[in-house]
This record gives sequence, structure tokens and C-alpha cells, in this order.
Amino acid sequence: MTDFAATKALFHLPEGVIYLDGNSLGPLPVAAKARVDAMMRDEWGEMLITGWNKAGWMAQPTALGDRIGRLIGAEPGHVTVGDTLSIKVYQALAAALELRPDRRIVLTDNGNFPTDIYMAEGLLKSLGQGHELKIVDPEAVADHITDDLAVLMLTEVDYRTGRKHDMAALTATAHEVGALTLWDLAHSAGALPVDLSGCGADFAAGCTYKYLNGGPGAPAFIYVAPRHAGRAVPALSGWLGHEAPFAFDLDYRPGSGIERMRVGTPAVIQMAALDAAMDAWDAASIEDIRSKSITLTNLFIQEVEAACPDLTLASPRDPAQRGSQVSFRFADGYAAMQALIARGVVGDFRAPDIMRFGFTPLYIDEDDVRAAAAILADVMTNRLWDQAEYKVRAAVT
Ligand SMILES: *Cc1c(COP(=O)(O)O)cnc(C)c1O
Repeated sequence: MTDFAATKALFHLPEGVIYLDGNSLGPLPVAAKARVDAMMRDEWGEMLITGWNKAGWMAQPTALGDRIGRLIGAEPGHVTVGDTLSIKVYQALAAALELRPDRRIVLTDNGNFPTDIYMAEGLLKSLGQGHELKIVDPEAVADHITDDLAVLMLTEVDYRTGRKHDMAALTATAHEVGALTLWDLAHSAGALPVDLSGCGADFAAGCTYKYLNGGPGAPAFIYVAPRHAGRAVPALSGWLGHEAPFAFDLDYRPGSGIERMRVGTPAVIQMAALDAAMDAWDAASIEDIRSKSITLTNLFIQEVEAACPDLTLASPRDPAQRGSQVSFRFADGYAAMQALIARGVVGDFRAPDIMRFGFTPLYIDEDDVRAAAAILADVMTNRLWDQAEYKVRAAVT
């Protein structure tokens, strides 16, 4: 059984803050400071260029990929890290489309995160082969899986509402019609058990700065199923995905397996922070995280609904249907969230009216949930949000 008091001690949380936004940016793992400091001092500082070999910087993207892979049911050697999630979605979708050359439809839902949709639109346009991006309601996805479908591209857990797709069922349905699947795990990796291999998922991608606590700008990850790894063509054919980068050949030959999904020079300092963050998972089981997360989200819903009649639950009530976040709708949700943040409860706001709260059992417990719900009740009951200063929108909400 995971010792949650011990995992909480692994994170730095500012005094007086209840942090319910680890679904957007995980907090600082205490060990990351020393790890990054040591990397800069002993590796960059002393080894200079030789660090690529001596300190193993070059092998690190795939080593880190394996650490993440254990949380998402990936086969060893089939995940690598680098770039941003937007880039990894583009790469995975491009590779998937090449594997279905006679099909033109990509299917997604209108709850998907906009960057996934933008990247897909950009890719389809530059392919210039008449591909179509079909965007349907999340509940209608299964009905649109037809035998002209090339790729089903979904985010497992909706960033606004926390609604969770059934990865196993939708992947099976897509495979029945001969389509491939691309799963975005931005709100899944580190939040709940994922079984890419068991579901037979074809491609997946995700970020490491949300539930994996790798820090702002931490690299993304990408998964390619073993059966496609030797055939998937990387649309972004950078030199570090080449079979022999240091041969400096003028012709591109893809590297073996997942290595070909690397693009350019990896962010070594950021990988040091991510590696330290991943140590938390040595002491935590994802199954324990999921069951505690359900306890915390249920408790929050119960407390808030009892005290805040003006808030409408936007997340599925059935915990099996949602990820590790709870969202409420409220017309003045932006101001209400600012009033909450001013009182030490940090969640965030997603247009047009969603107040979003992430629950991360590694460092959030029942006492935090009760305290946060009480402060929210005070803000709502006493209209503490109804002040001009809380209504001015910042660039990042
Ligand atoms: C957070 C998130 C992103 C962010 O992409 P970046 O390239 O890392 O900025 C993309 N997709 C989904 C589903 C997300 O939740």
C-alpha cells in the first residue's frame, strides 16, 4: 500500500496553499532541485561536451520513456521523450496516416484539447491529399467509427470536464474497421492506470508536466506499438531519429524502433528534473493512486454540492467515467476562481464557465479536500468573488 504521507513529503508546496492544479502543472519535487543542481555542476559544468557520452545524456530520452512506459502499460523500449505534446501528436498522427494510405478520415471529438485539433488540421492541409478531420460529440464517437476511417485520435480524459473515454472498447471498435488509434494521455499518465499494450493501442502521446510533475517545459512522450515500430515513418525526420546521427549522411534512414521518433537535441536540464520527479513512482502504485483519487473526487463533489447550490457539476458523477479532476460550471467562474486562489486554494478556469480542480493523491489528502471545499463554500455563499479585481482576465487562466 502506498504511504501517502511519505509521498506528500516528496513535494514542495508553498505555505498556506492547497494545490488543486497538479493536472495543469505538477508541483516541484524536492529532489528535482538537487538533481538539476548536480547535473549542472557535475555534468554540464565539469564534463562539458563529453556529458553526452559520460553522463548518458544521449540515451536518456528512451530511458525516461521506459520509466513513463511502466505507468501506461507500454512495452519496454517503445516510449521516448522529447519536444512538446503538440509535436508528438503531429508525429504520431502523420505516422499513423502513412500506415493507412488508402484512407482519408481522421476522427476526433469536440472535447479534445484544441492544440491536438490544430496540429491535425495543419498536418492534413500540408499533406494535400484530401484528408478530412471529423469532429463529433464525445458520446457519438463510437457511431462514427466506419470502414473509411484511417485514424481515431482521442484524448482519453477531457481536459475540461474530466470525462473519460473507454480506451479498450474504442480501440477494439476502431480495429474492427481497420483503423488505427492515437491516444493523448495528457490527463491520464500518472493520474490513472493505462494499459496501452492490453488495449492494443497503436500510438499514444502525453506530457510530463501535469500529473508526472516534470516541471514547466518538461518534454513530452510518444509511444508506438511494437508491431508498428519498424514501419512507422517519422514525418519529422530529425537527425537524432536517424539510424546513425554521427555518420552525418545526407540521406535520411530512420533509426530502429522508437528511436526514430526523436527529432533534435534533447532538453537535458529538463530531463534531470523529470528523472527526479519519476522517483516518486518508485514509492507509489498507480492502482493506489486511482482508488485514493476516487475517494478524493467523490468527497469534493459531495462537500461542494452540499454547500454551493450555484455550482453545477460538469464532470461525470460516476467515478469510473471520469479522470482525476472535478469541474463545476458557474457563469462567474473566472472571478470565483480568482477569489479562491487569493485564499490559497489553487485550481484553474477554462472558458466559457468551467472551474477546474485536479486531485493528485501523491500530495493531496482528505483534509486538503475538506478545507478547500469549505473555502469555496465561503467564496460562494458570501459572494466574495463579486469584486472588480477578480474579473480582470490574465493571459493564462
Ligand atoms: C496539456 C495538453 C496539451 C499541451 O500540449 P503542449 O504541446 O505540451 O503545450 C495537449 N493536448 C492535451 C490533451 C493536453 O491536455
